[in-house]
Amino acid sequence: MQIGDLRVDIITAGPILLDGGAMFGVVPRTLWEKKLPPDGRNRIAMSMNVLLVRAGGKNLLLDTGAGDKEDDKFHRIYGLQASSLVPDLAALGLTPEDIHVVVNTHLHFDHAGGNTLRTLEGRIIPAFPKARYLVQRREFDDAMDSNERNRASYFPENYKPLADSGQMEFLTGEAEIIEGVRAIPLPGHTLGMQGLFLESRGQRALYLADCVPTHHHVPLPWIMAYDLYPMTTLETKKRVLPQAAREGWTLFFEHDPEVSAGRIEELQPFTFAVTPVGP
Ligand SMILES: [Zn+2]
Repeated sequence: MQIGDLRVDIITAGPILLDGGAMFGVVPRTLWEKKLPPDGRNRIAMSMNVLLVRAGGKNLLLDTGAGDKEDDKFHRIYGLQASSLVPDLAALGLTPEDIHVVVNTHLHFDHAGGNTLRTLEGRIIPAFPKARYLVQRREFDDAMDSNERNRASYFPENYKPLADSGQMEFLTGEAEIIEGVRAIPLPGHTLGMQGLFLESRGQRALYLADCVPTHHHVPLPWIMAYDLYPMTTLETKKRVLPQAAREGWTLFFEHDPEVSAGRIEELQPFTFAVTPVGP
């Protein structure tokens, strides 16, 4: 799709199965299972939708999916299909060398796993050799100093080699990446998470990362149990969603297997209806 002068393509970096209860926090199963029925292991089928943004001769990749460095057991647990973004980029006429900037919304494995590759000799190398990788400083610091609660999501091989080589750069708060693309903090899921705000020729869009991972999470209390600071997520949603409704932003839902993009309308204060937006 086109957001003004920005060409935006949604690339599905593969499926991922996540625990239904963890995806919906305090929302009772009787409510969420109607929308997304779980499998025999209580997992629901999610997607990893990354964005390719092209503008002014620059190619930006927003998040990189789970990549394929982990072992078979890990792939089975999360229903991952060792998938590469290379064929998807090729279908859009690009190679990994053509990516100028990779922006990570945060450094969880299902958002940053595709940042790097493991060679046959076991070396970790950048998946996008010529790209600058951008992430919030706060997110990187937390990822490097993980704790018992978040350790299962942070794998240093996805980001530490890039920081060590200087290929990863750090943002503090809002930052313009290229004209029309701004990183904006969306704290809650992690404190250092950022979304990407796109604005060109009066058209606006927001890549919400894990703040609102699917269109089912638009209602305010539908907040993931994965979130480290759910009350902060609530504040972030209350800040962002009314403005998105008022100004007609296109919203990108990173984990939604069906509605990867939509617009919202505020029917009553903080109650929204979602309308899918096609490609
Ligand atoms: Zn996450």
